[in-house]
Order: sequence, then structure tokens, then C-alpha cells
Amino acid sequence: MGKVTGLPPARVSIEQFCVDCNRPGHGKPFFPSHPELSVSWSHQNGIVMAAVSTFDIGVDVETLGSIPVDSDFSENVLCDAELEIFNKLPATSSDGASLKQLYVARQWVRKEAIVKLGGCSLDRLSKLDLGELYFPDFSLDTFQRINSGCDYAMIDISIVNRVCLGALVWRGETQGILLSATKEGRNP
Ligand SMILES: [Zn+2]
Repeated sequence: MGKVTGLPPARVSIEQFCVDCNRPGHGKPFFPSHPELSVSWSHQNGIVMAAVSTFDIGVDVETLGSIPVDSDFSENVLCDAELEIFNKLPATSSDGASLKQLYVARQWVRKEAIVKLGGCSLDRLSKLDLGELYFPDFSLDTFQRINSGCDYAMIDISIVNRVCLGALVWRGETQGILLSATKEGRNP
């Protein structure tokens, strides 16, 4: 936020407001002094991911170990088309990691980031179809990749031997903004 506005970080205040309860203190964060900027953050087990943008964004980060491998979880997260992809995956890859767990973890962070964006509620994750999105190449340890499809575009992030996965999501129609910002050399 300091970088985007030039304000000293100590002078940046962030508040939260929940539209479901119509109350402050939790829910989507915002900058009272700069309501035109979107902010999102996520943290787990000492890992933090945060983003500030001139258009609506949402982020989520999870450690792979926190993702359950049971079928109840995958059925709560994945839609029918994604379950079909999931069911065809081998239980393990050549290096012993569970491709099924990596797939459900990837869709979970993408969908959680969409929830943060305000595009979906937690109880409707299995109605959200991201099956058209590119399935990341898990042979790469650390990467960022821009993905577009469905109503959303996103950057998938995978860090440190796949111990941690993250996603930064925005609405598909705003993708041109991000691409032009990147082209001009500014940090999106
Ligand atoms: Zn609430």
C-alpha cells in the first residue's frame, strides 16, 4: 500500500466490513483513505500472501499439509466436471506426491481466492466450475503462471517443493488492465 500510494506504511490504516452481517471488524478489508484500491491477504502456518490493486482482487495461500485427502473434502470443493478430472488422476506421481491432493489443493486455493474476491460463498464451492483452467505442471517446484478461463483470471503460485500453494484472482473482464500494466513495466 505504501508503494502504491507513496504513504509511509505507518500511516496506512486498513479496516474490514462484512456485507453479510452488515458490521465492521471482519469481512472484506479496505483502505478508508483510498476506497478505490482493493486489498486482500491470507496467512497460514507462518506464510503470508498479500496484494493491493487498482481493480478487485482476492488471494489465498495454503500449506499442502493442511489440505485433507478424504473424499468428503474433495466433494465439497470440486464440481462434477472437476471430480471427473480428479478421479482420473493417479494416486501418486513419480516422486511420491499425491496428484489427487495437489489437484484438490490447487482448486481449493483458487476458489478460496474467488471467495475473497466476493465471487462465491464457501458453501457453494462445489457449484463453481474451474475445470477449464489450465492444470498446473507440478514438476516445477516454484512458479507463477497467469491463467484465464471461466469468469476469472488468476496467477497460480507454487513455492518450495510444493509445500505451499497460492492464488491471486481477479475478474476475467479486468484482465486487460493487468496485462497493460505489465507491458508498461509497472508492478501489477
Ligand atoms: Zn460477517
